Amino acid sequence: MSYIKGLFCKECGREYPAEALNVCDFCFGPLEVSYDYDAISKVISRERIAQGPRSLWRYQDLLPADAANAVDINAGFTPLIKANNLAKHLGLDELYIKNDSVNPSFSFKDRVVAIASTKAVEFGFDTLACASTGNLAGSVAAHAARAGMRAFVFIPADLERGKVVGAAIYGPTLIAVDGSYDDVNRLCSELSDNYNWAFVNINMRPYYAEGSKTLGYEVAEQLGWRAPDNCIVPGASGSLFTKIWKGLNEFSSMGLIDGVNTHMFLGQAQGCSPIVTAFDAHDFAIRPVKPNTIAKSLAIGNPADGYYALKVIEESKGSAYAVPEEDVVQGIKDLAEMEGIFTEPAGGVVIATLKHLARTGQIKPGETTVAFITGNGYKTQEVVEDVAKPILIKPTFAAFEAAVSVRP
Ligand SMILES: *Cc1c(COP(=O)(O)O)cnc(C)c1O
Ligand SMILES: [Zn+2]
Repeated sequence: MSYIKGLFCKECGREYPAEALNVCDFCFGPLEVSYDYDAISKVISRERIAQGPRSLWRYQDLLPADAANAVDINAGFTPLIKANNLAKHLGLDELYIKNDSVNPSFSFKDRVVAIASTKAVEFGFDTLACASTGNLAGSVAAHAARAGMRAFVFIPADLERGKVVGAAIYGPTLIAVDGSYDDVNRLCSELSDNYNWAFVNINMRPYYAEGSKTLGYEVAEQLGWRAPDNCIVPGASGSLFTKIWKGLNEFSSMGLIDGVNTHMFLGQAQGCSPIVTAFDAHDFAIRPVKPNTIAKSLAIGNPADGYYALKVIEESKGSAYAVPEEDVVQGIKDLAEMEGIFTEPAGGVVIATLKHLARTGQIKPGETTVAFITGNGYKTQEVVEDVAKPILIKPTFAAFEAAVSVRP
């Protein structure tokens, strides 16, 4: 069961019932889920979590939807890998990769959609929908298939082939919009006022966003019930970034881990970095930009949670970095060549940010650092097409030796 109490406005505090709502009627602030933490603290324990399923539903007590009726394709409980080669290369001691690229639809979006789709079924919706930068499309389509729901999925028309196919395969109605993600989002907001659909990241957004907390929970559990010193997270709307922080702090306030002294570092690609620009200007007002970046999954020019992400950076004494576009692919290659993990441009942004933070001494040897890898490289092969140059030979011993010199 879930300990959800309702929704509340993050700006004016006004309370709302747990319905498909995302904006405060009075001040237009975003709504967030409220819980009965007193009741949760009486039941939750490390042992109870450890006995749970090997998916994000092991954190049921702190989630707003009921695991008993979950739309479940087994999201979450992904590997936390100690990255010794990359650590050595960067002069660090204790570096981990949280490899969320191996979720069922190959991005961390399965976490948010698991919660939103379960809640949508609970509310009686028969149609799941979303405005996507790419990965959300695949996850919504997959969860809708699993739930036997209709799916309408909206994407910008210039998306990578692997993301289009990776969504279309599940049989949704897939709409490619001639415009940016921000155009797609505007259209979907208008549609959600007129169609009785569960738009996972619009009218279902308060529930959807809570799914990202599980990344914070999992990392703390996998580190042996402690918070890391540093988290490096890619930012699009900024939601994931704020929710990892929330997850760590909830674990602490429930007594599952000690105090949280984590520094939160946000990475964006230079071609779409409105949150970083505001951070650099010491300004909490985000100026929307028109994205032009290789990191399409992060290409949100007007980030809904940008302000809250800046607040988390301030509170956690972190920082933000805009990765030069040409460094994104190098980040992808570094992770693949040093740790055997093939990520998409969002992961390249994280590795490039990690390199920058290590080089500038913002993260130090002796600290525990976690880099969050949120999407899979097999969906965006075109960005690293240049590596695909196999040595072509005839099937003979002599041909091999003529083509390749290997010392015996
Ligand atoms: C959506 C997405 C993000 C960022 O999500 P926000 O919560 O909008 O900041 C990061 N990485 C990948 C691969 C994504 O698809
Ligand atoms: Zn309000």
